Amino acid sequence: MEEAGPGLDARARGELVHGVLAKFWARVGDQEGLRALDDAGRQSLVAAAVAAEIEAHPHRALFGAEFWRLEQTRVTALACEWLAGELERPPFTVVALEEAFKLDLAGLPLRLRADRIDRLAHGGELLVDYKTGRAKRASWEPPRPDEPQLPLYALAREAALRGIAFGAVRKGECAFEDFPKGIVCGGESVEREAEWRTALPMWRAELETLAREYLAGHAVVQPKDGATTCRYCELALFCRVNEAGPLAAEDEEVADDAS
Ligand code: SF4
Repeated sequence: MEEAGPGLDARARGELVHGVLAKFWARVGDQEGLRALDDAGRQSLVAAAVAAEIEAHPHRALFGAEFWRLEQTRVTALACEWLAGELERPPFTVVALEEAFKLDLAGLPLRLRADRIDRLAHGGELLVDYKTGRAKRASWEPPRPDEPQLPLYALAREAALRGIAFGAVRKGECAFEDFPKGIVCGGESVEREAEWRTALPMWRAELETLAREYLAGHAVVQPKDGATTCRYCELALFCRVNEAGPLAAEDEEVADDAS
Protein backbone atom coordinates (compact mmCIF):
# COMPACT_ATOMS: atom_id res chain seq x y z
CA MET A 1 0.00 0.00 0.00
CA GLU A 2 1.13 3.51 -0.67
CA GLU A 3 2.10 5.57 2.37
CA ALA A 4 -0.43 8.16 3.45
CA GLY A 5 0.74 11.77 3.67
CA PRO A 6 -0.75 15.22 4.09
CA GLY A 7 -2.39 16.87 1.07
CA LEU A 8 -2.25 15.72 -2.54
CA ASP A 9 0.68 13.49 -3.50
CA ALA A 10 3.13 14.47 -6.24
CA ARG A 11 1.23 12.52 -8.91
CA ALA A 12 -2.12 14.12 -8.08
CA ARG A 13 -0.52 17.59 -8.04
CA GLY A 14 1.02 16.87 -11.44
CA GLU A 15 -2.30 15.66 -12.85
CA LEU A 16 -3.96 18.85 -11.67
CA VAL A 17 -1.42 20.96 -13.59
CA HIS A 18 -1.80 18.74 -16.69
CA GLY A 19 -5.59 19.15 -16.58
CA VAL A 20 -5.38 22.92 -16.21
CA LEU A 21 -2.99 23.37 -19.15
CA ALA A 22 -5.08 21.03 -21.33
CA LYS A 23 -8.21 23.07 -20.55
CA PHE A 24 -6.39 26.34 -21.23
CA TRP A 25 -5.05 25.27 -24.63
CA ALA A 26 -8.35 23.69 -25.63
CA ARG A 27 -9.80 27.18 -25.21
CA VAL A 28 -6.96 29.34 -26.55
CA GLY A 29 -5.62 27.12 -29.35
CA ASP A 30 -2.38 28.76 -30.41
CA GLN A 31 0.29 31.25 -29.49
CA GLU A 32 -1.56 34.03 -31.30
CA GLY A 33 -4.51 33.47 -28.98
CA LEU A 34 -2.18 33.56 -25.99
CA ARG A 35 -0.58 36.76 -27.22
CA ALA A 36 -3.99 38.38 -27.60
CA LEU A 37 -4.58 38.06 -23.85
CA ASP A 38 -3.20 40.62 -21.44
CA ASP A 39 -1.89 39.49 -18.03
CA ALA A 40 -5.30 39.84 -16.40
CA GLY A 41 -7.06 37.97 -19.21
CA ARG A 42 -4.54 35.14 -19.07
CA GLN A 43 -4.81 34.90 -15.30
CA SER A 44 -8.58 34.88 -15.43
CA LEU A 45 -8.70 32.03 -18.00
CA VAL A 46 -6.15 30.01 -16.03
CA ALA A 47 -8.03 30.60 -12.75
CA ALA A 48 -11.25 29.39 -14.39
CA ALA A 49 -9.48 26.24 -15.64
CA VAL A 50 -8.06 25.58 -12.16
CA ALA A 51 -11.49 26.07 -10.57
CA ALA A 52 -13.05 23.62 -13.04
CA GLU A 53 -10.35 21.01 -12.35
CA ILE A 54 -10.78 21.40 -8.59
CA GLU A 55 -14.55 21.16 -8.87
CA ALA A 56 -14.28 17.83 -10.72
CA HIS A 57 -11.33 16.53 -8.68
CA PRO A 58 -11.80 12.94 -7.42
CA HIS A 59 -10.46 13.96 -3.98
CA ARG A 60 -12.57 17.11 -3.76
CA ALA A 61 -14.40 15.98 -0.64
CA LEU A 62 -11.26 14.86 1.21
CA PHE A 63 -9.95 18.37 1.78
CA GLY A 64 -11.45 21.57 3.12
CA ALA A 65 -12.13 24.89 1.44
CA GLU A 66 -8.89 26.46 2.69
CA PHE A 67 -6.79 23.66 1.21
CA TRP A 68 -8.41 24.10 -2.20
CA ARG A 69 -8.08 27.88 -1.97
CA LEU A 70 -4.33 27.43 -1.50
CA GLU A 71 -4.18 24.94 -4.41
CA GLN A 72 -6.12 27.38 -6.58
CA THR A 73 -3.54 30.10 -5.84
CA ARG A 74 -0.55 27.80 -6.28
CA VAL A 75 -1.63 26.18 -9.54
CA THR A 76 -2.83 29.46 -11.07
CA ALA A 77 0.55 31.12 -10.37
CA LEU A 78 2.46 28.10 -11.69
CA ALA A 79 0.44 27.82 -14.91
CA CYS A 80 0.77 31.59 -15.54
CA GLU A 81 4.54 31.32 -15.04
CA TRP A 82 4.64 28.47 -17.56
CA LEU A 83 2.54 30.36 -20.11
CA ALA A 84 4.80 33.41 -19.90
CA GLY A 85 7.58 31.17 -21.24
CA GLU A 86 5.37 29.99 -24.13
CA LEU A 87 5.31 33.60 -25.35
CA GLU A 88 9.08 33.47 -25.91
CA ARG A 89 8.81 30.73 -28.55
CA PRO A 90 8.39 31.10 -32.30
CA PRO A 91 4.68 30.84 -33.30
CA PHE A 92 2.94 27.48 -32.81
CA THR A 93 -0.52 25.97 -32.91
CA VAL A 94 -1.67 23.28 -30.48
CA VAL A 95 -3.09 20.54 -32.74
CA ALA A 96 -3.74 17.76 -30.23
CA LEU A 97 -4.31 17.38 -26.49
CA GLU A 98 -4.25 14.06 -24.61
CA GLU A 99 -4.17 12.18 -27.91
CA ALA A 100 -4.13 8.39 -27.75
CA PHE A 101 -1.83 6.33 -30.02
CA LYS A 102 -1.35 2.67 -30.68
CA LEU A 103 2.03 1.28 -31.58
CA ASP A 104 3.06 -2.23 -32.53
CA LEU A 105 6.66 -2.49 -31.44
CA ALA A 106 8.20 -5.69 -32.80
CA GLY A 107 4.97 -7.53 -31.94
CA LEU A 108 4.42 -5.81 -28.58
CA PRO A 109 1.17 -3.81 -28.70
CA LEU A 110 1.43 -0.50 -26.82
CA ARG A 111 -1.12 2.18 -26.02
CA LEU A 112 0.25 5.67 -25.52
CA ARG A 113 -1.20 9.06 -24.68
CA ALA A 114 0.57 12.30 -25.57
CA ASP A 115 -0.04 15.40 -23.44
CA ARG A 116 0.15 17.78 -26.36
CA ILE A 117 1.26 18.17 -29.97
CA ASP A 118 2.18 21.54 -31.46
CA ARG A 119 2.49 22.44 -35.13
CA LEU A 120 5.62 24.55 -35.49
CA ALA A 121 5.90 27.68 -37.60
CA HIS A 122 8.76 26.22 -39.64
CA GLY A 123 6.90 22.99 -40.35
CA GLY A 124 6.48 19.68 -38.64
CA GLU A 125 5.15 18.84 -35.21
CA LEU A 126 6.55 18.87 -31.71
CA LEU A 127 5.40 16.47 -29.04
CA VAL A 128 5.29 17.93 -25.53
CA ASP A 129 5.11 15.96 -22.30
CA TYR A 130 4.59 18.04 -19.15
CA LYS A 131 6.70 17.21 -16.13
CA THR A 132 6.19 18.64 -12.69
CA GLY A 133 9.15 16.59 -11.43
CA ARG A 134 12.67 16.37 -12.85
CA ALA A 135 13.05 16.32 -16.63
CA LYS A 136 16.33 15.37 -18.29
CA ARG A 137 17.15 14.93 -21.96
CA ALA A 138 19.55 12.14 -20.96
CA SER A 139 16.63 9.95 -19.93
CA TRP A 140 15.91 9.30 -23.67
CA GLU A 141 19.39 8.03 -24.41
CA PRO A 142 20.09 4.38 -25.19
CA PRO A 143 20.99 1.86 -23.99
CA ARG A 144 17.82 1.06 -22.05
CA PRO A 145 16.48 4.63 -21.90
CA ASP A 146 15.12 5.54 -18.47
CA GLU A 147 12.01 7.25 -19.90
CA PRO A 148 11.19 5.76 -23.30
CA GLN A 149 7.69 7.26 -23.61
CA LEU A 150 8.60 10.19 -25.85
CA PRO A 151 10.86 8.14 -28.16
CA LEU A 152 7.94 5.68 -28.44
CA TYR A 153 5.56 8.50 -29.43
CA ALA A 154 8.18 9.62 -31.93
CA LEU A 155 8.12 6.16 -33.55
CA ALA A 156 4.31 6.14 -33.57
CA ARG A 157 4.12 9.51 -35.30
CA GLU A 158 7.37 9.44 -37.18
CA ALA A 159 6.20 11.02 -40.44
CA ALA A 160 4.97 14.28 -38.91
CA LEU A 161 7.16 14.85 -35.88
CA ARG A 162 10.30 16.96 -35.90
CA GLY A 163 11.08 16.86 -32.18
CA ILE A 164 10.08 15.93 -28.65
CA ALA A 165 10.22 17.95 -25.46
CA PHE A 166 9.63 17.67 -21.77
CA GLY A 167 7.83 20.78 -20.58
CA ALA A 168 9.18 21.22 -17.05
CA VAL A 169 6.42 23.02 -15.15
CA ARG A 170 8.17 23.81 -11.88
CA LYS A 171 8.00 27.00 -9.82
CA GLY A 172 10.97 29.19 -10.74
CA GLU A 173 12.32 26.57 -13.16
CA CYS A 174 9.81 26.45 -16.04
CA ALA A 175 11.67 25.39 -19.19
CA PHE A 176 11.63 23.05 -22.16
CA GLU A 177 14.05 20.15 -22.26
CA ASP A 178 13.96 19.33 -25.95
CA PHE A 179 15.43 17.08 -28.58
CA PRO A 180 16.92 18.05 -30.94
CA LYS A 181 18.14 20.79 -28.64
CA GLY A 182 16.71 24.14 -29.76
CA ILE A 183 13.72 22.69 -31.66
CA VAL A 184 11.33 24.54 -29.33
CA CYS A 185 12.84 28.00 -29.18
CA GLY A 186 15.28 28.05 -32.10
CA GLY A 187 14.37 28.55 -35.73
CA GLU A 188 14.78 26.16 -38.62
CA SER A 189 18.06 24.25 -38.71
CA VAL A 190 19.48 21.66 -41.09
CA GLU A 191 21.66 20.26 -38.26
CA ARG A 192 18.64 19.69 -36.02
CA GLU A 193 16.76 17.95 -38.83
CA ALA A 194 19.75 15.66 -39.41
CA GLU A 195 20.05 14.96 -35.68
CA TRP A 196 16.38 14.02 -35.53
CA ARG A 197 16.63 11.71 -38.56
CA THR A 198 19.61 9.96 -36.95
CA ALA A 199 17.86 9.47 -33.61
CA LEU A 200 14.73 7.76 -34.97
CA PRO A 201 16.35 4.53 -36.29
CA MET A 202 18.55 4.40 -33.20
CA TRP A 203 15.51 4.56 -30.89
CA ARG A 204 13.65 2.05 -33.06
CA ALA A 205 16.49 -0.47 -32.89
CA GLU A 206 16.94 -0.05 -29.14
CA LEU A 207 13.25 -0.14 -28.22
CA GLU A 208 12.48 -3.05 -30.54
CA THR A 209 15.28 -5.02 -28.91
CA LEU A 210 13.77 -4.32 -25.48
CA ALA A 211 10.30 -5.29 -26.75
CA ARG A 212 11.59 -8.58 -28.18
CA GLU A 213 13.39 -9.36 -24.93
CA TYR A 214 10.23 -8.60 -22.96
CA LEU A 215 8.11 -10.84 -25.21
CA ALA A 216 10.68 -13.63 -24.91
CA GLY A 217 10.59 -13.41 -21.10
CA HIS A 218 14.19 -12.26 -20.98
CA ALA A 219 14.58 -11.04 -17.40
CA VAL A 220 18.24 -10.98 -16.51
CA VAL A 221 18.88 -9.39 -13.13
CA GLN A 222 20.93 -6.44 -14.31
CA PRO A 223 19.80 -3.14 -12.74
CA LYS A 224 20.92 -0.38 -15.08
CA ASP A 225 22.21 2.01 -12.41
CA GLY A 226 22.95 -0.37 -9.58
CA ALA A 227 21.40 0.58 -6.24
CA THR A 228 19.76 3.65 -7.80
CA THR A 229 17.59 1.43 -10.02
CA CYS A 230 16.60 -0.79 -7.12
CA ARG A 231 15.95 2.04 -4.67
CA TYR A 232 12.14 1.86 -4.72
CA CYS A 233 11.75 -1.78 -5.80
CA GLU A 234 10.42 -4.31 -3.33
CA LEU A 235 11.35 -7.40 -5.35
CA ALA A 236 14.94 -7.82 -4.19
CA LEU A 237 14.03 -10.97 -2.23
CA PHE A 238 12.44 -12.43 -5.35
CA CYS A 239 15.10 -11.50 -7.92
CA ARG A 240 18.02 -12.10 -5.48
CA VAL A 241 19.93 -9.12 -6.82
CA ASN A 242 22.10 -9.03 -3.71
CA GLU A 243 23.44 -12.52 -4.39
CA ALA A 244 25.34 -11.15 -7.39
CA GLY A 245 27.44 -8.96 -5.07
CA PRO A 246 27.11 -5.43 -3.69
CA LEU A 247 25.41 -2.93 -6.00
CA ALA A 248 27.15 0.25 -7.04
CA ALA A 249 26.54 3.22 -4.73
CA GLU A 250 23.53 5.43 -5.36
CA ASP A 251 23.68 8.31 -7.75
CA GLU A 252 23.48 11.40 -5.50
CA GLU A 253 21.39 13.40 -7.94
CA VAL A 254 18.72 10.73 -8.19
CA ALA A 255 18.72 10.33 -4.43
CA ASP A 256 18.12 14.10 -4.19
CA ASP A 257 15.27 13.91 -6.72
CA ALA A 258 13.49 11.45 -4.55
CA SER A 259 13.69 13.61 -1.44
S1 SF4 B 1 15.41 -5.23 -6.97
FE1 SF4 B 1 15.58 -6.75 -8.62
S2 SF4 B 1 13.65 -6.59 -9.77
FE2 SF4 B 1 13.87 -4.74 -8.52
S3 SF4 B 1 14.85 -3.25 -9.87
FE3 SF4 B 1 16.47 -4.25 -8.69
S4 SF4 B 1 17.14 -5.95 -10.01
FE4 SF4 B 1 15.16 -5.28 -10.82
